[in-house]
This record gives sequence, structure tokens and C-alpha cells, in this order.
Amino acid sequence: MSEPSDRTVPFFDYPALSRNDEQQLVEIFRDICRRGAYISQSDMRDFEQELARYVGARYVLGMANATDALHLAVRAAGIGAGDEVLFSSHTMVATAAAVAYAGAKPIPVECGADHLIEPDCLEEAITARTRAIIPTQLNGRTAKMDAIMEIAERHGLLVLEDAAQALGSRYRGRCAGTFGLASCVSFYPAKTLGCLGDGGCVITNDESIYRKLCLLRDHGRDERGEVITWGLNSRLDNLQAAILRFKLPNYPETIERRRAIARRYQQRLGDLPGLVLPPAPDSHPDHYDIFQNYEIEADRRDALRAYLQQRGVGTLVQWGGKAVHQFQGLGYRRELPRTERLFQRLLLLPMNQLLSDQDVEYICDQICAFCEQQAIRRSAA
Ligand SMILES: *Cc1c(COP(=O)(O)O)cnc(C)c1O
Repeated sequence: MSEPSDRTVPFFDYPALSRNDEQQLVEIFRDICRRGAYISQSDMRDFEQELARYVGARYVLGMANATDALHLAVRAAGIGAGDEVLFSSHTMVATAAAVAYAGAKPIPVECGADHLIEPDCLEEAITARTRAIIPTQLNGRTAKMDAIMEIAERHGLLVLEDAAQALGSRYRGRCAGTFGLASCVSFYPAKTLGCLGDGGCVITNDESIYRKLCLLRDHGRDERGEVITWGLNSRLDNLQAAILRFKLPNYPETIERRRAIARRYQQRLGDLPGLVLPPAPDSHPDHYDIFQNYEIEADRRDALRAYLQQRGVGTLVQWGGKAVHQFQGLGYRRELPRTERLFQRLLLLPMNQLLSDQDVEYICDQICAFCEQQAIRRSAA
């Protein structure tokens, strides 16, 4: 059963990200340099088309990162001063920052049992100023998009998706990022499709949004170099695009590996008292989850985290342990009791394609041992 206790499993092994592909990555680097193909070259355009085909969308635009991608998508959608945009407070601050930087007001709402935006809590947050909803497709799961799209339609609201964590995740057969007017995906190294630096994209089926974003990410310039509007510099680096293009064909395998690990966590940890696991792969026909993260709830979260730390297992509390509305500096004076209770209990276990089977068994052994110790303490008390 138990492996030697000097094993360590970091939460995410950054050096391992390139270890198996070092040769090919060096070749890509050499090729890009020899061509001098640094900015907005064929590698970026080819990657955009291949990714669009993968998610089943008309357009993908490579951007510098997902935060810029969402910010510029919000602007391209015409959202700005005086507008309110609803988002789940259990998300990265970037979701709300994208709205704030466009001049609009990000309004946090509660998340539900699956940790994603709760459709039932949306309607009570809608005001005369509400213009849009941004569901975050959190942890590699897609929100209940039928209910969200129905609410949006009934109230005349736009939907933009923060799909930074959900490339390839599906709801009722349709990919995250293709439901709303536009969406963002992140290629940050620890994301499911990670590059070797910052990177992101917008996905959209809307031609007018696509055309606006082509300008906004490139100084407001059109193909002739004519400046049509104020813009930013927010293009996906061509070298990163070439690396992503190299990785994309293996991406389905990456997802399958993550789902296999989730299945194993479910088998070994599913019946332990004091833990709540995320929905298992294939536990609901509407959802195909890609497990960007494996976010559990634990009654004694901090004790479990310390216990695992002592035994070499790295864990993480997402967003530094606070929902967006709980960051004092952002000036929210809103209470979201469900989300706040949940944030006492959340913990991310290691979840990525770089983990070995032995790593996963070791992590499970330690969590089982912790729960057993807790049970003994309880019965002694
Ligand atoms: C990672 C992440 C982002 C930001 O992505 P960047 O590419 O780092 O800008 C935004 N939203 C969510 C939910 C994320 O997980």
C-alpha cells in the first residue's frame, strides 16, 4: 500500500511541463527564430483555425492572455459605463477585472453545489442596468447553460463566458466557450492546454465581434495598417502559438488522463466521511468535464492541508482562499453566505496529466490515513 514516505507530489510540477517534449520544443524555437516569425505570423493563424475546428466555433483569436481576451470581448460587446454584469464570485478576480476595466460594474452572485454560477441566484440580481452574464466554466466543468441562456433571453441580456479553465469541456455535447456571444480561454502554463508563458484566446461565432477584436488586439489597426479605433497590443505571441499548435493534437489524451485520475480519486475517496468530491466523470449525461482542477470540500480543510503538506503532497486553496467580493480592496459591501461558507471548505488536490499512477495512489493513501485518524479521534472522544 503505502509508498516510501519521502515521495513528494508538488501541486503542479512546472519543470515537468516541457520535460518529455524538450527536443521538439527546441526545434520549434529554432524554426521560429530562423524564420524571424515572432509576431502575428502563420503559426498564430493556423493555430486559431485548428482550435476553432476543435471547439466547433467560427472564430478563434489568439490574445496575450485570457484576462485581456475577456476585457476586450466585453468592450467589443459594447458593454461599458453604467452597465452591470453578473458573475459568480467563485472565480478568478480577472473575470470581474475584465468588466471593471471596460468601465462597467461587475456584480457577484452565489455559486451552487457544483461550485459554478447558480442560475437560481441570477434572477434576483438582475436590475434595470444589467447588460450581461459571465458564467465562469470553473474547474473544467460547463455551467447549466440551458438555464442561463433562457434567463438571459427572457431579460434581454448578453452572455459572455469565462472559459479560461474549460477548453474542451461540454454541456449537452456543446463546447464551453461557444454558448455566449464571445468567450475567453487561457493558455497559462498550469491550464489544461498550457503554453510556456502567457497566452489566451477569444472564441466567438459572431462576425462583427470577431472583426472588432481583430482591431482591438492590434492597436486598432486594420490589415492595411489604417487605425480605425483605439486599441491595445494584445496578440498571442507567435512562438507560444507554435508551441500550442504542437500540443493541440495530443490535447484529447491530456483530457482523458485527467478524467482517469478523477475516476481514481472517486473510487478511493468517494466514501470517506467529511469529504465532498466534485461530480465524477460521466456521472451526469449533460456534462463532460475536463478537470482543470479537482476541487473537494473538506470538513477539516486546514488540518487536511497541513497533514498532506507534511507528507509531501502539495495542495492549493483557489484564489488565495477568497471569493472576489471578499477582497477588501475591491470595495464590495455584499454578503454571499453560501459562497462564504463554501470557501471555508474548498481545497484543490493535485490534478494534471503529469501525475503518475503512483503519485495518485500516494495522495489517496495519505487522505485515507488522515480520515482514519480523524475517525479514531472521534470515537475516543
Ligand atoms: C486563469 C484564469 C483567468 C486568467 O487567465 P490568464 O490567461 O492568466 O489571463 C481568468 N479566469 C479564470 C477562471 C482563470 O482560471
